[in-house]
Amino acid sequence: MAKSQVPARKSSGHICARHAICFECFRAGAERTRARREAWAQRSLPFEVAPPPQLSARELAHRRQMLEHLAQSARRA
Ligand SMILES: [Zn+2]
Repeated sequence: MAKSQVPARKSSGHICARHAICFECFRAGAERTRARREAWAQRSLPFEVAPPPQLSARELAHRRQMLEHLAQSARRA
């Protein structure tokens, strides 16, 4: 009785199974984690968005009106 053979993926070296992880996938995950950590560490450098300015009472009222308007349009949709 012949067992069906799973083709080996030797070209990429990607050999992880459902419940295991191969070195290629482990390394890819570690690199993503490192990239996130570096992005977090550099969060105060050039790409930082300026903090929002203090809003006046009138500006706040206007934003609330806009939000209410959007909420109403969403309810109608
Ligand atoms: Zn893998």
